Amino acid sequence: MSKVLFKNGVVMSCNDKLGDIENADVLVDGTKIAKVGSGLAADGADVVDATGMIVMPGMADTHTHMWETPFKGRIFDAWGMEYFTNIHPLVSYTNAEDVYAGIYAGAIESLSAGVTSIFDYSHCIRSSEHADAAMAALKAAGIRATFGYDLRGTDHSGKQALKPSEGRFSDIERVKGMIDNSPESLLRLAVCLSEVTNDSKERIAREIAFSRELGVRMSWHCNKAGEVTHLYKSGQLAADLMPAHGNYMTDEDIDYLGGVGGFLTTQPEAETYAGRRSMSMVARCHRRGVKIGLGIDVPVIMNYGLIAQMRLLFFLQRYMDGIVERHEGQFPITRREGVPTLSPRDILRFVTTNGAEANGVGDVVGQITPGFQADIVLLDTRDFGRGEGDPAGHIVTNSSLGDIHSVMVAGQFRKRDRKMIGVDMPKMLSERIAARDRIYQRAGEQPGKYNKTYWNWGASAVN
Ligand SMILES: [Zn+2]
Repeated sequence: MSKVLFKNGVVMSCNDKLGDIENADVLVDGTKIAKVGSGLAADGADVVDATGMIVMPGMADTHTHMWETPFKGRIFDAWGMEYFTNIHPLVSYTNAEDVYAGIYAGAIESLSAGVTSIFDYSHCIRSSEHADAAMAALKAAGIRATFGYDLRGTDHSGKQALKPSEGRFSDIERVKGMIDNSPESLLRLAVCLSEVTNDSKERIAREIAFSRELGVRMSWHCNKAGEVTHLYKSGQLAADLMPAHGNYMTDEDIDYLGGVGGFLTTQPEAETYAGRRSMSMVARCHRRGVKIGLGIDVPVIMNYGLIAQMRLLFFLQRYMDGIVERHEGQFPITRREGVPTLSPRDILRFVTTNGAEANGVGDVVGQITPGFQADIVLLDTRDFGRGEGDPAGHIVTNSSLGDIHSVMVAGQFRKRDRKMIGVDMPKMLSERIAARDRIYQRAGEQPGKYNKTYWNWGASAVN
């Protein structure tokens, strides 16, 4: 087994006992972290000089629809419901080979940005071939992936081979048979549930029972008040059920979710771009013990990678805290219990330990700890220097994607010295563009043109 020794970096272990260690080494042996300490012997290892670099755990994206990658930038200027009217109809025109090209390109871009674990909320599965293509792309990219098989079936043409909900159970069982779902496996399975509504309660109960029987985690788009409370009161809520967004969760919802040790995945840019959603749930979740993970959600606007998401959340939360303080007559603005809500360290936890747990792999990644899988990022601070104090502050407020110097997944370099390893980059890009062009041709669409809408959808129409 090959060994790699990262020498003399600032090791941010994200492990409470180990903490941050200046001028420290990390020895990787095979797929795992063998030792963390100072002056470790090279012992035949491939030595990487990490002087002037932060050595941190690979980051975890907890909610992204990777099949949308071919449409990068399609709705930069979107507002209101324009995502739904411009992107979801494309499902009907997206074939398995297009899914492969999109997810592969998204996984490579994620790795390049320091994301080593990703929850692919795969809601373009029209047939078994679509599911197979998604899994094959995630595998080929070498990212640690949680493949979220969507039960809804978002193809509104009625022509999809796999019908929604129970119409997909046998295909999910088939997929489960192909995946080694153990914690250290690079490809794991999750199930994405139907919308929770008054009319779907029995269907949701069947979907949850089915998923628990399979032993897989679940997520769903939680866009209404009371969904979590319903799950709790019907005896179904547990930490294996992760709401996405949750902007309309009540405090009661949040208390129940925190009570079971649950997670929320939020995507700060996606919550804010369209003007439809509040972000008050972040502070309320944080104070009530819900563990938060971040994601990018839709690559049709957002860039892959979590630095932008962390930074937006940090400043947005400060802005919201300030508004609340002013409303409550707190002058002058000063620190008090629970205010400000989030520190850079809290937010870094969202993309490391919390994110790994949310993706179901918190026992094996998310920390630089001996015995854990070696998912490691080197973040370069050599040119302009690291900010003073907590390196988490540097990452959240001062770093950029261009600083992601090297990325390792399970002991394998996926990026080294700013170059992707084992990836034919021009081929990856041309295949993504070709997939887009094929889909647009079938759908009668064109790059750079999207349809603006001017009607007023109420929040109740958002599912
Ligand atoms: Zn989503």
